[in-house]
Amino acid sequence: MEVMKGIYRIAVPLPQVALKEVDIYVIEGEKGNLLIDTGWNTPEAFNAVKDSLKIDGFELRDITQIAITHFHPDHYGLAGKLKQLTNATLAMSEIEAPLLDGRYSNPENLLKELSAFLRVNGVTDSMLSKFSEASMPFRQFVVTAKPDILLKDGDTISMPPFELQVLLTPGHSPGHLCFYEPNRKMLFSGDMLLPEISTNISYHPQSSDNPLGDFINSLKMLQEIDINFAFPAHGPVFSGTKPRIEALLYHHKNREREIIQVAHNNLMNGYQIASQLAWAPGDKPVPFDKLSVWDKRLAVMETLAHLQYLVYSGKARKMEENGVNMYFVEE
Ligand SMILES: [Zn+2]
Repeated sequence: MEVMKGIYRIAVPLPQVALKEVDIYVIEGEKGNLLIDTGWNTPEAFNAVKDSLKIDGFELRDITQIAITHFHPDHYGLAGKLKQLTNATLAMSEIEAPLLDGRYSNPENLLKELSAFLRVNGVTDSMLSKFSEASMPFRQFVVTAKPDILLKDGDTISMPPFELQVLLTPGHSPGHLCFYEPNRKMLFSGDMLLPEISTNISYHPQSSDNPLGDFINSLKMLQEIDINFAFPAHGPVFSGTKPRIEALLYHHKNREREIIQVAHNNLMNGYQIASQLAWAPGDKPVPFDKLSVWDKRLAVMETLAHLQYLVYSGKARKMEENGVNMYFVEE
């Protein structure tokens, strides 16, 4: 569907996860066409991409470049197959390209690291294998492809009449990118800025040491940019990014307050703190015990992102006790 002149939105179905679809975009240039994100590698997703392109007047081979906002399966998973079928050049974050192999093709080491990481953060032995293998089913939805172009902050993707500036917006993933069209004041925001849900921010072996701090800095950077329309990866095109950013900053501040309440003057590990908070993977909050294994894992990693942020802002201390990382929240 053409959502603005020369910009087409394709809703790609995502079975098996809470999110129903990922929205990807075609930018129609004079000499070629750019696809932003791909969806993941299932027959339904592939058919949705192919059929929607056709309805909008494109063949697969009309796509000349693919640019990826970040390396998560629902954004990057179909890149390998589409690259083969289109001959498009593939561009992605220079920070995330080197992590692809260890994440998708040869994940044995990452699994070991993850298992050690979860143990060190208080996940008990009985839960450990379930926790560390929870993401393995997602691997089948990814056909990896080596990027032809490595993108970094300040680069330009030229698809005349569109000129997209590459903005590094880490937090949700270590090298997440947004693409900004300054003449039209449009932002292709990936998972960085979503209109209806708040992006998951996790501390884990492939994240930075302070992913929530990175995310908050990315939000503040976007706050300074003139944006008329944001084209998110999940949800409708929206304007009013400034109040949305305010709301997201407020959301995280609120969550911080809840975590401080639970952990105040207590020496606790990440798992213990996460298990005392309420979580809302669906519409209404549920206790930690009622979450699926996958959502529990996300909950622990999200709590850890908050705890790391508190450590970096001087409000908490982190110390090791019997091989487990304990946090002491002082404020
Ligand atoms: Zn994502």
